[in-house]
Amino acid sequence: MTKAQHIAAFTEMMWEWYRRHKRVLPWRDLKIKDDTQRAYLVLVSEIMLQQTQVPRVEIMFKKFIRTFPSLEALAHASNRDVILAWRGMGYNSRALRLRDAAKKIVQYFGLQFPQNMEELLSIKGIGPYTAAAVRNFAFNLPTPCLDTNIRRILHRVFIGPERRDGTWRKNDKYLLKLAGEVLDIALLSPTRPARGAPSPTLLRSSGATEGQAGGGQRRRQRPPPLGGRVGDGGKDWHAALMDFGSLVCTKNNPKCQQCPLRHRCTSVNRVKPHRSKLKAGSSKLREPGREIAGKFVPNRIIRGRIVEELRDAPKGLALNDIGGRVCIDWDAKEHREWLHGILEKLKRDALIRSEGKRLMLAE
Ligand code: SF4
Repeated sequence: MTKAQHIAAFTEMMWEWYRRHKRVLPWRDLKIKDDTQRAYLVLVSEIMLQQTQVPRVEIMFKKFIRTFPSLEALAHASNRDVILAWRGMGYNSRALRLRDAAKKIVQYFGLQFPQNMEELLSIKGIGPYTAAAVRNFAFNLPTPCLDTNIRRILHRVFIGPERRDGTWRKNDKYLLKLAGEVLDIALLSPTRPARGAPSPTLLRSSGATEGQAGGGQRRRQRPPPLGGRVGDGGKDWHAALMDFGSLVCTKNNPKCQQCPLRHRCTSVNRVKPHRSKLKAGSSKLREPGREIAGKFVPNRIIRGRIVEELRDAPKGLALNDIGGRVCIDWDAKEHREWLHGILEKLKRDALIRSEGKRLMLAE
């Protein structure tokens, strides 16, 4: 089988799987005519999904959009308002990055959400994957990209499993080229979704449920059509890869036995549990943090806890109070310098500020 034939077989199976198992998510298939509004919703979802699981984002996305219903509303929000609206998400710097991106679009692009890669990449906080995701999902402009799901699927299917330490044998340059070749063939596939309005009800009534892998038992049923205008293939194709990576070819527990690709995949039943790159007990390459009650806690967790405490303290808290709330072993003498360092970094990141001896969320 040639490489092109292998890719064609892969894309056909993926389309088939996606027809039956597509997830219905609040930021998908947006029936919004306003390009900027559609792109805004896609951008919010993509930034949220960077470090947060889909079920949590499903909840938080709706809340965030209620608070900031448009790009313009977010662009004018204060640090404090954005951090408050980000409650429950963690990695709070993302909220400010998202607001700053909205600001830049309003200021430099006159509320017209840019569509080309160069312009999208000129916005701080929008990297190559996010730019491509906006093009695919908001503008139906098929654009190859790599995220953790796509990288994992392409590498496992066409190259082989990851190493035991979780690293890949082929680099992203190679995989992005492969992603482009695969996308081209996926869009030409005769089994590519046909035009016609997608109906979540129809999808659900087909028997497709989240969490099911493979399509073997349902092959005989005629799958419902997916919908879309010309160009929707790029949007659907990437959504298919995301769903497949989340439900079937997962990081730690790929469901090879139920996988429709099992006869074509170079990694079937070969993915081994990842070994930590570090030996147990080694702290050499660990991210910054310290042992708290016998468990290593990274500083980023403490950062999140501090912001969480300050969300509920509009008048601020003193350093000692913060220490007592975020560390069960708080000892002012021993830990003050360490906590001070974390607080200073939070200030530099514009997440908090100080007024006299009290610390509070940034304005
Ligand atoms: S056979 Fe296993 S490793 Fe290969 S794509 Fe399917 S789930 Fe992933």
